Amino acid sequence: MVLNIVLYDHPILRKKGKPIDSFNDQLKRLVSDMLETMAFHKGVGLAAQQIGQALQLAVIDVSESKIPSSLLIEGKPVPIEEHMPLFLINPTLSCTRSKELSNEGCLSFPGLRIDVPRSKRVKLKTFDLEGKPLALEAGGFLAIAIQHEFDHLQGKLFIDYLSPEKKKAIKEELEKIKRAEPSLFAKENA
Ligand SMILES: [Zn+2]
Repeated sequence: MVLNIVLYDHPILRKKGKPIDSFNDQLKRLVSDMLETMAFHKGVGLAAQQIGQALQLAVIDVSESKIPSSLLIEGKPVPIEEHMPLFLINPTLSCTRSKELSNEGCLSFPGLRIDVPRSKRVKLKTFDLEGKPLALEAGGFLAIAIQHEFDHLQGKLFIDYLSPEKKKAIKEELEKIKRAEPSLFAKENA
């Protein structure tokens, strides 16, 4: 089922997600709906906050992206496609200090693109849908997607990285998003 996307500045986008405590059918159904919703909107990542639930849960799929990614599991490079979709469930993240600007969009900010400083590589600890722990290292576009989604789970948004001047410069765009109807967005992208 395609779910409605919560747009800026709905207060749930600012809520830190509650940990997932049972890996049951309800979780699998929710993840399946989130994947359908993300694919419908041609997104590469979607956090639970964006469909109105403050949970430590996000889905990512960068397999269609032209921007290169790298993925290592237990220190060994593995094919990206075989490990997509990736789930962030109760994740912990460590990022390298060196950062570069990444031009990003967000399904909760239709039409907006901004440059955000992101680490080139990340180490992620997460779980699969059966509750099995998974540790991985990611680079390139996947590392960026993981950082963006991890932020959502903490109630942090990509606009929070903007300087006051840059935030002022997109004030009009943000006001437009605040006034937009989620259903209109769905139709535009159908
Ligand atoms: Zn986002």
